[in-house]
Amino acid sequence: LFLDQPLAEGQTVDLQRDQAHYLTGVMRLVSGDAVAVFDGRSGEYLAHLGQAGKRSATLVIGPQTAPIRMPPDLWLLFAPIKKARTDFIVEKAAEMGAARICPVQTDFTNSERIRRDRLQAHAVEAAEQCGGTFVPDVDDLRPLSRLLDHWPEDRRLMFCDEDLAGPVSALPAMPGPWAILIGPEGGFSPAERARLHAHPAAHPVSLGPRILRADTAAVAALALWQAALGD
Ligand code: SAM
Repeated sequence: LFLDQPLAEGQTVDLQRDQAHYLTGVMRLVSGDAVAVFDGRSGEYLAHLGQAGKRSATLVIGPQTAPIRMPPDLWLLFAPIKKARTDFIVEKAAEMGAARICPVQTDFTNSERIRRDRLQAHAVEAAEQCGGTFVPDVDDLRPLSRLLDHWPEDRRLMFCDEDLAGPVSALPAMPGPWAILIGPEGGFSPAERARLHAHPAAHPVSLGPRILRADTAAVAALALWQAALGD
């Protein structure tokens, strides 16, 4: 269970109503039962259910059982698409080890806004499901151009360009911080594509001869990166 506060042995944590209901109502746990908890920043702890009611419950935090397993320093930049598919991209990015998830506004992005808190909750759920101890931050929606204007010196950019077509590109074996960029349903504009190809940090890659949906492309790109550079 994810607890959105720094955890330490000996603490007693008051659970949110939905978490209390999940443990006592859905999982049918009773006082004294053990629960694995994590705060997304310091690792996993063994906790025990303290006071346990339908609408409120407490957890007593015990010893740390696993250190934080930091993911590789990988960002996923993607242009938001339809709601359910954007949820899917965030979940898969959290499951597949993205350290940061950055929704970006591109020339052809048709979603003007995102529900950041909802997407962050999907990232938490994905981390809980895959037994992770780290939860990636989901950023607010920002223009891709602004991110490129202030691109970090040492970070390479895997630019998934559907116009490249051809076989799946091999990624250069260059360890260090990376980012993956996936475009919207309408793809990248010619101006964006020209800017990206000229960008010193960019490594244009093909994800194969077929045009993939943006959510499929995100998973394919994450897997390609993990195969070449993941740990
Ligand atoms: N404009 C495209 C078209 O011709 O229909 C659609 C873009 S595609 C739905 C969304 C994004 O997924 C692309 O901008 C790109 O980032 C990525 N993508 C999809 N297929 C790809 C491929 N074969 N190689 C590289 N990137 C791909």
